Amino acid sequence: MLKKDPRLDIVEKNMMPGEISHTGFLGNDKRSLADILLDDGLTVADLQLTHQILAERMEELTDKGREGFGYPVMIDGFLEVTVEDSRGSIACPFNHMGMYPKENVRVLNRKTGEEISWTSLNIHMIREHGFYEGKGSPFRVEPVDLVRILEIKD
Ligand SMILES: [Zn+2]
Repeated sequence: MLKKDPRLDIVEKNMMPGEISHTGFLGNDKRSLADILLDDGLTVADLQLTHQILAERMEELTDKGREGFGYPVMIDGFLEVTVEDSRGSIACPFNHMGMYPKENVRVLNRKTGEEISWTSLNIHMIREHGFYEGKGSPFRVEPVDLVRILEIKD
């Protein structure tokens, strides 16, 4: 068995409900943080993609969506992006400096009717930590759904 990195224990504690966020980051996931990171890393690798590629696309859509000031913006002819500012900001549970705006980004694929949403913190955590949140967390971004709905190709 691998020896557990004690730094992950601190991060895991930060992710509990009521620490940094009211609902926390792990949902009802019974896996350890290390396993969540590993499983999602494998999922993304199986799709021949990287966390950086996914985060870049999310960032690009978020930037373009902000131009709608709360109204939907059509991007690439099939993605309807709505960025709603919910005021305030939130810290990264991995103990980084800096705060991330609590805006909510909703993307509707007009071809399939499927929808997915994320926050600025999701983009940061995916890019820098490969973390998509635990299953059952209200802000969990399911990598397979993300790739399918945004139609990200390898
Ligand atoms: Zn961070």
